[in-house]
Amino acid sequence: RMHIDSPNTCVYVILPVVGCLSVDLAMTHQFPALSPEQKKELSDIAQRIVAPGKGILAADESTGTMGKRLQNIKVENSEENRRCFRDILFSSDPSISNCVGGVIFFHETLYQKADCGKLFPKVVKDKGIVVGIKVDKGTAVLMGTDGETTTQGLDGLSERCAQYKKDGCDFAKWRCVLKISDSCPSALSIAENANVLARYASTCQQNGLVPIVEPEILPDGTHDLQRCQYVTEKVLAAVYKALSDHHVYLEGTLLKPNMVTPGHSCTKKYTPQEIAMATVTALRRTVPASVPGICFLSGGQSEEEASVNLNAINQVPLHRPWKLTFSYGRALQASALAAWQGKDANKKAAQDAFCNRAKINGLASKGEYKPTGSADQASQQSLYTASYVY
Ligand code: 13P
Repeated sequence: RMHIDSPNTCVYVILPVVGCLSVDLAMTHQFPALSPEQKKELSDIAQRIVAPGKGILAADESTGTMGKRLQNIKVENSEENRRCFRDILFSSDPSISNCVGGVIFFHETLYQKADCGKLFPKVVKDKGIVVGIKVDKGTAVLMGTDGETTTQGLDGLSERCAQYKKDGCDFAKWRCVLKISDSCPSALSIAENANVLARYASTCQQNGLVPIVEPEILPDGTHDLQRCQYVTEKVLAAVYKALSDHHVYLEGTLLKPNMVTPGHSCTKKYTPQEIAMATVTALRRTVPASVPGICFLSGGQSEEEASVNLNAINQVPLHRPWKLTFSYGRALQASALAAWQGKDANKKAAQDAFCNRAKINGLASKGEYKPTGSADQASQQSLYTASYVY
């Protein structure tokens, strides 16, 4: 490297850059992070979750968030009632596995049993669905910012991942939250959240779990579609730089982003086609083609809106190198909750409502959903909550 003897001034500028790059590349080669077998396992898991027509059911609401959902239907937030509702979802008709490739669990649920006596992870696995687990421990405020946050849970994460792998999990979720305002997201929140997502992702991969990387940009605000697209691009670019810096194996990851939408209080309305184009454009500019799947969160959209937008995303006339599918919480459960009302007699109706939404989203993930215009009331209702906490 030191053989360049030209007095050309350019050399003095280029040399340090080239030198530094070559050292880093040699290091990566010297200390491979994952064996070929580990990589194959991770990429196989990711591919199974986002196989054609499949997406993810996010059922990993914390106990507090589940309490708010149950309160809406006047059901007490007891361990048994949380178990009952999750049993409805997980014990649905086996055909659900045609459109659900993965289910994200909350710690408590992983060790509960279905009415049939089997542990929930077994019920889900027996349907050919991959079991996942939320591993973050919620958000903490970043001092000196306008209420921005990072996400906690790195302490002991490797040990917890190893245990979850033994207990049947093959993927994990970690949610970071960013917000849009005149001054947000700050450079600090973008850098900090990107880095913590990368630390989490590398820890998961070392333990055989596919990390779902979730940098959620909240829909709160009056901003327009273009501002959301701009911020989404900046956040995702930082996330993929951090994942690269941390030697994360992208083929063994999934991304869970927000769709690019106008702020909840934006006065201008946009069509699903405009939302889809903004979303796909932002993703094409920032997400490497090696990422197997992008599984959107629903972010407070109504069930029907989330399905129609996902469908439009899969019809955008641009090359899309990844699967574009769903990882919905609210937009897969709202109708089922409304149908259930905490009553045993309504179990079947609740399961039908859930299966119906899952099937619609499976079609939308292929751009094949044709709304009939007969969507019921519950599915059209906004599921937005300000400053959403999961
Ligand atoms: P929503 O689909 O309800 O936005 O949430 C999904 C999720 O898992 C957020 O982390």
